[in-house]
Amino acid sequence: MSCANHDVVVVGGGVIGCAVARELAATHDVVVVERERIAAEATALAAGEITMAPSYTDNPPIADFATGFFRRYDGTGRFEFTERPSLELVPPDREREARRRVERLAADGVAVSFSEPDAVEAAFPRFDLREFAGAVEHRDTGFVDPYAFAMTLKEDAESRGATFLTDTEVTGLRIADERVRGVETAAGTFDAPHVVVAAGWRTERLLRDHVRLPVRPYRTQCVVLDPLETVGDAFPMGWIPGEHVYFRPEHNGDLLVGGWSFAEDDPEGASESEDEAFRDHVADLVPRFLRGFDRARFVNGWAGVDGATPDTRPIIDAPSDAPGGLVVATGFHGRGVMTAPVAARVVRTLVVGERCPFSRAPFVLDRFDSRSPDFEFHSISAGD
Ligand SMILES: Cc1cc2nc3c(=O)[nH]c(=O)nc-3n(C[C@H](O)[C@H](O)[C@H](O)COP(=O)(O)OP(=O)(O)OC[C@H]3O[C@@H](n4cnc5c(N)ncnc54)[C@H](O)[C@@H]3O)c2cc1C
Repeated sequence: MSCANHDVVVVGGGVIGCAVARELAATHDVVVVERERIAAEATALAAGEITMAPSYTDNPPIADFATGFFRRYDGTGRFEFTERPSLELVPPDREREARRRVERLAADGVAVSFSEPDAVEAAFPRFDLREFAGAVEHRDTGFVDPYAFAMTLKEDAESRGATFLTDTEVTGLRIADERVRGVETAAGTFDAPHVVVAAGWRTERLLRDHVRLPVRPYRTQCVVLDPLETVGDAFPMGWIPGEHVYFRPEHNGDLLVGGWSFAEDDPEGASESEDEAFRDHVADLVPRFLRGFDRARFVNGWAGVDGATPDTRPIIDAPSDAPGGLVVATGFHGRGVMTAPVAARVVRTLVVGERCPFSRAPFVLDRFDSRSPDFEFHSISAGD
């Protein structure tokens, strides 16, 4: 049974699928096919940190493109982008490297500076930096509610004419003469000359017979702490290199702490709760740099699975050895929410053949010598 003809089928209704649909819907007939609900997997579990500026110091136009999008999109529907600086707390053994890096980046025009501990404590009185040599302050960062972001993108895409189908799993690609012709689902086939697979960590398994992708699942976690006395309006975000922990305020004055990521060999069966060891780590660590957290209460916690790549950057490409018309957008490695505007634009340039306003080089599949998904997993925390 053939269901319908479209210009583009997008597989997966996570934040990437929603952003891609929005980007293409004004000019193309787009259908998004999602096996569960919209934002059912990694997207709704994300911490919502937008730290593209520290994550792409080697390529500021990519960071600027994403940050500019979040600023302009703020206030669309229920979507809000809350801007806050991010503090990278620098342990004494990393001070020399951090100061040199700041000098180099500031000379290149990146919005970054090094602050002594007393300057940080004067600006942000909840901080107690006696164990640290100071902090690298990154600007152009903030946070969002990832579910609200994905749903706003979806509603925007629908208002431009895109269709979203839920509870419909794509089981395979339709291919003829080395080109994609659409996808197969239990509900029938969807025909289209372009198929964009944005199926999170499942992308590698779905496409294994057509193109090899060095993407492996990994599990990462979050907890929320209620410090009893709220952290206040101007509280920054931040992370501690080496401790694999990042943090940001919640709008109600609680503190969200995330991190502790590990390769996951059983992604379907992985626990959705945070590990006790992670909670113990947070309980020990946070009072060492924040005042008033000795008797903080755990509000909740969770864990989710995302896709990792060997260099921590996503694959957004129309691989030359894959069937024509196939675009992959996967391996967002803990940064899919913040990278969604960039991913959507790259996909648009691949489908339409337009010029990309920034370099696509960090995202091409050919940058990897090996396509094996069995690589050593590297954890990231913001600018790590
Ligand atoms: C705990 C945690 C914290 C995080 N914090 C941040 C953060 O602060 N900032 C940030 O930018 N990122 C963060 N991330 C990462 C971010 O959530 C992901 O990178 C991002 O959500 C990936 O989006 P996606 O659309 O590629 O994948 P997903 O959200 O996983 O969506 C893929 C969708 O595809 C569907 N699908 C899969 N297979 C099929 C199929 N065969 N047919 C149809 N549909 C299919 C799935 O059901 C799913 O809905 C975090 C992730 C976790 C787990």
